[in-house]
Amino acid sequence: MTTNSTDDATGTDAPTEATTDTADVDSALVTARRQLERAATHADVDSGVVERLKHPTRVQRVSVPLERDDGTVEVFTGYRSQHDDVRGPYKGGLRYHPHVNAEECIGLSMWMTWKCAVMDLPFGGGKGGIAVDPKALSADEIERLTRRFAEELRDIVGPTRDVPAPDMGTDAQTMAWFMDAYSMQQGETIPGVVTGKPPVIGGSFGREEAPGRSTAIITREAVDHYGRDLSETTVAIQGFGSVGANAARLLEDWGATVVSVSDVNGAIYDPDGLDVQSIPTHDEEPEAVLEQDAPETLSNDEILELDVDVLIPAAIGNVLTADNADDVGADLVVEGANGPTTFAADAIFEERGVPVIPDILANAGGVTVSYFEWLQDINRRQWTLEEVNDELESKMLDAWNDVRSEVESKDLSWRDAAYVVALSRIAEAKAVRGLWP
Ligand code: GLU
Repeated sequence: MTTNSTDDATGTDAPTEATTDTADVDSALVTARRQLERAATHADVDSGVVERLKHPTRVQRVSVPLERDDGTVEVFTGYRSQHDDVRGPYKGGLRYHPHVNAEECIGLSMWMTWKCAVMDLPFGGGKGGIAVDPKALSADEIERLTRRFAEELRDIVGPTRDVPAPDMGTDAQTMAWFMDAYSMQQGETIPGVVTGKPPVIGGSFGREEAPGRSTAIITREAVDHYGRDLSETTVAIQGFGSVGANAARLLEDWGATVVSVSDVNGAIYDPDGLDVQSIPTHDEEPEAVLEQDAPETLSNDEILELDVDVLIPAAIGNVLTADNADDVGADLVVEGANGPTTFAADAIFEERGVPVIPDILANAGGVTVSYFEWLQDINRRQWTLEEVNDELESKMLDAWNDVRSEVESKDLSWRDAAYVVALSRIAEAKAVRGLWP
């Protein structure tokens, strides 16, 4: 199994914190709150609602004891932040990474609230995880850790309460263990407690590829919006995990020229276009990008500065900062990862006239197919891959059009416009439900 390889909406296990120690890099929570405050100035939303949305409903902190293979016991800390559920059960991933902490989970859970609302899914936002390096554990240890974590969260999760999914450092196998532990304790098989499971136990076809597919769909629409032809478009993609690799392969299929891709070790570059279909994804063969034949290799910082039409950061957060935003050579940025652009970098891009299509729209295919999976679980009927991809295409186009009309009618940035769409839906739901007591 490959618990240390999947990174779901965030791409690969690409560069870690080395890329994040610049002055303007804030925590996910600080960035999420600033983005909310800024977007609220453009939306006709009650200030009380905005105030409520700055705070999570609940943050559960749990101790997760693990018996190591050598018989010693270690205690890890796990979290689940439930941000808002006015539109439906909390929804969002579980992350296994040494830097997981309460504040990061809260910020990431806020982004999930907006992401579900932009996509018009009947879910709110959640996010959680364990502060652990999964690469330092055996598969058996990860299984025991996951089962105990599921038990610690049992009272607050469930198909109508809070539905976890894969994120950095977790994958379909992790979800299978979580679902099994939960189901065993409840006395019945409850596939809808998590999404991103293997299809044989109620997972959805197409879920794994979905964040990359949505990133490709949104890139295609954005390129068209700016009056360009995909067949004359060059693309650089940072991260070759599920998001980056699937986006790269689809964009190439649709005619774009992918000139550079990277993983944790660096990037390869060919101005005439790489054969991305033949490069193994992180799941197929970890860290294989630099082993491919290509005229040039670059660092993970240099790929961000390439003179291309589209840059897709699809690895980790906080890679586009005040330090490098002026040097980004792309005409358009599409966020495949969660939170790759700092608040300060956003302002620089706006000044430079470089549109940034936000994560909560671009990579939202992951949670959208999670919603399809949840429907399939509740109805006990599996959809075909074709049904999933058709529905995903249509949900992405609806969301794209909703956001685009805000951009056009109010002259907003893409991020602000996506927030306005999300906030309006959430605020309307809060208004009709009311504040009680
Ligand atoms: N972890 C993914 C994200 O950040 C997916 C969450 C889900 O499917 O619930 O969007």
